[in-house]
Amino acid sequence: MLTGTHVTFIGGDARQLEVIKRLVELDASVTLIGFDNLSQAFSGATSAELSEAVFTEQDAILLPAVGTDDNGMVDAVFSSRELKLTEAHISRLPKHAKVYTGMAKPYLKKICAKYEIELVELFERDDVAIYNSIPTAEGAAMLAMQHTDITIHGSVCVVTGFGRTGITMARLLQGFGAKVLVGVRRDEHFARAFEMGFLPFHTRDLQSHVGDADLLFNTVPSLIITAQVIAAMPPRTVIIDLASKPGGTDFRFAEKRGIKSMLAPGLPGIVAPKTAGRIIASVVSQLLMEDSAKRGNGQ
Ligand code: NAP
Repeated sequence: MLTGTHVTFIGGDARQLEVIKRLVELDASVTLIGFDNLSQAFSGATSAELSEAVFTEQDAILLPAVGTDDNGMVDAVFSSRELKLTEAHISRLPKHAKVYTGMAKPYLKKICAKYEIELVELFERDDVAIYNSIPTAEGAAMLAMQHTDITIHGSVCVVTGFGRTGITMARLLQGFGAKVLVGVRRDEHFARAFEMGFLPFHTRDLQSHVGDADLLFNTVPSLIITAQVIAAMPPRTVIIDLASKPGGTDFRFAEKRGIKSMLAPGLPGIVAPKTAGRIIASVVSQLLMEDSAKRGNGQ
């Protein structure tokens, strides 16, 4: 349980509602900022305005998937008010408090570092990234269905990158009955991809493996779908780039060649906000319980 743990949520979308629900169930003292347009109030949580005073007795601040923008603005879909997180807010936190977010921009990193407040970036954790790869891959499959006139079954799919997202993507496509080629850069990944029944190749040879591609799913966050690679694709290929902005595709050249290509960020929050919220809720509640146990032990 989280009895006696003080947590403040600032902004967020439908995902955050799942986290609030879980922490209220665990008996945390929950304060909500930026949820004023919610149709149903949360019983067991208190609403507040964004002010320095709120921060003084908190054990944790929970920010949305992207903590703040480059100017400290916090995205809050359930509020029409602007929320700006400032240095003055963070300076008021007790030293043991932590700030939780999906990923942090330099602005947030800088103000937390200045006041020695631990910043936890949940999307960097392996467990969160692996769980999130499930709605990401499902969302990518949805886009593939929307943007092609063929079934995934029987299609030739190329997946570049064999990390947390790439593996799940490749397995989902295999489950659909696609022929799945996987671009890897390490020999051990080549062997693992082979063992899993994919057709592995080294990403340095990508150009010679896209000649038959119906779909290409990129998870590599560097420019690897270059003009040369795109030039080797048939005109029917659809590129779904899952890597973080700006993606790994030469979108300008793809457009010039008439190849459909799209950057598809934030799929878990778009296609499965409830599941994505539960993933965050489960990890955050576990981390808060560990923090609370440490404080209880006087550490
Ligand atoms: P990951 O586990 O680190 O996997 C990245 C893969 O790319 C690894 O196999 C890595 O190879 C490979 N790679 C990196 N740089 C490369 C290069 N220059 N050439 C060839 N291969 C390279 O990351 P992840 O969790 O799967 O996430 C992948 C990307 O998807 C990230 O940008 C992430 O932000 C994004 N993402 C997007 C969504 C969405 O909704 N679109 C959701 C989740 C994640 P090594 O193993 O050899 O390093």
